[in-house]
Amino acid sequence: MTHAIVAQQAGGPEVLAYTEVERPEPGPGQLLVKVAAAGVNFIDTYKRGGVYKVPYPFIPGGEAAGTVEAVGDGVTAFAAGDRVATAEGLSCYAEYALVDEDAALPVPDGLDDFTAAALPLQGMTAHYLMNSTFKVEPGHTVLLHAGAGGVGLLLIQLLKARGAEVITTVSTDEKEQLARGTGADHVLRYDGFAARVREITVGAGADVVFDGVGKDTFDGSLKALRVRGMLVLFGAASGPVPPVDPQRLNAGGSLFLTRPTMGHYLRDAAERRWRSGEVFAAAADGSLKVRIGARYPLSQAAQAHRDLEGRKTTGKVLLVP
Ligand code: NDP
Repeated sequence: MTHAIVAQQAGGPEVLAYTEVERPEPGPGQLLVKVAAAGVNFIDTYKRGGVYKVPYPFIPGGEAAGTVEAVGDGVTAFAAGDRVATAEGLSCYAEYALVDEDAALPVPDGLDDFTAAALPLQGMTAHYLMNSTFKVEPGHTVLLHAGAGGVGLLLIQLLKARGAEVITTVSTDEKEQLARGTGADHVLRYDGFAARVREITVGAGADVVFDGVGKDTFDGSLKALRVRGMLVLFGAASGPVPPVDPQRLNAGGSLFLTRPTMGHYLRDAAERRWRSGEVFAAAADGSLKVRIGARYPLSQAAQAHRDLEGRKTTGKVLLVP
């Protein structure tokens, strides 16, 4: 027997129960991974809470790093003993998780297990947002919400390396210091942020807004854009955005609105290797700093969710079996 976090129904963090379970067996094309650390992501809270439908009993977690323990029939790219990570695993809040061979990412020698667990989901997200959803170029002005969060701290660094001007929002002094220390040019509070972006851009507005906060920021994000700017709504940490009248895009300056999700930007092995390869290499050579803001024992998954949803965390949150 081994341990995993199991939810029997949708609900608050208390549904996440540390439970004895059978060790999973890898099916054809799957790897059985001994988890060194699992990543906690906001999407895990949407699934736990019932915003996204899942089957029960449910073991959360799409992100982890660890060592291959065994492989299923037909696996050719990995063998027992290899170090792997994934952003698209199954049931990663566990001592052992299954990962489809296609979704497994080789971990370079320069990356420790915790950094490898911290990067795949938020790192590949930051990568696709700025390279493929909206191609950020040197000199662009970018507004990014929740700059001290997991995606936020990575995206600030990648945007600065690209030569963009970065404006970000945060809720506390501590988070402000962190975002500033990570390279953000302007760090704002949420109150009145759209007007501040206008001032900073001398009336023009931002070229793009990356908004993972959702309900509370959506209106201001539209107002902060330049003519023909793009709002990339990629999450809903404050809750989902209500239906939108397309006329608002016209009135706001022929704006673009998109709601991307990671799976559509990881279409095949080549795309996965490109994105993970670049972010892993940047972390391994030290040009991308990965902040692990909190580590919890696996058994404390419920507390990790409370803290993430309660805006108490910065950078990455990990569970360690
Ligand atoms: P974060 O570490 O950024 O945590 C969320 C942050 O959002 C909080 O720390 C908080 O920062 C801010 N926030 C603002 N309002 C609220 C609120 N009412 N309740 C809670 N938090 C709030 O999380 P992640 O980096 O994991 O994810 C960021 C966003 O990106 C999430 O919405 C997530 O769903 C989304 N995402 C989307 C992906 C995609 O492909 N579409 C992939 C990965 C993530 P502060 O206190 O400073 O405001």
